[in-house]
Amino acid sequence: MEMKVIEHATCTFCGCVCDDIELHADETRIHQAKRACVLGKAWFLNHTAEHKYPDALIDGRPATVDEAIEAAADHLYNADMPLVYGMSNTTCEAQKECVEMADLLCGLVDSHTSL
Ligand code: SF4
Repeated sequence: MEMKVIEHATCTFCGCVCDDIELHADETRIHQAKRACVLGKAWFLNHTAEHKYPDALIDGRPATVDEAIEAAADHLYNADMPLVYGMSNTTCEAQKECVEMADLLCGLVDSHTSL
């Protein structure tokens, strides 16, 4: 398996956005994250391109993404005060969509930092 070295990779885990990380990776996973802190190393080394899990779960059963979106929409539509929560490790574009969704639902937005 060929190992590639990626210079100046950016870590998006904690918000410091360190951009001097050196990654050593093959097609499936990152094996080294030089200059990343312990959190950054955990972030880089524990995500793989392997397909380990179903695309989605509904009530613990494997489902398609379309089925999961439909189920999520039903839950959100029927909620009294929907909370859009999390969004760590997501892109700015995805966070923007979450805020728009919360606005549409007259819901709330919170991030994991409130813990
Ligand atoms: S390497 Fe560590 S400090 Fe830098 S962004 Fe990643 S988690 Fe944050």
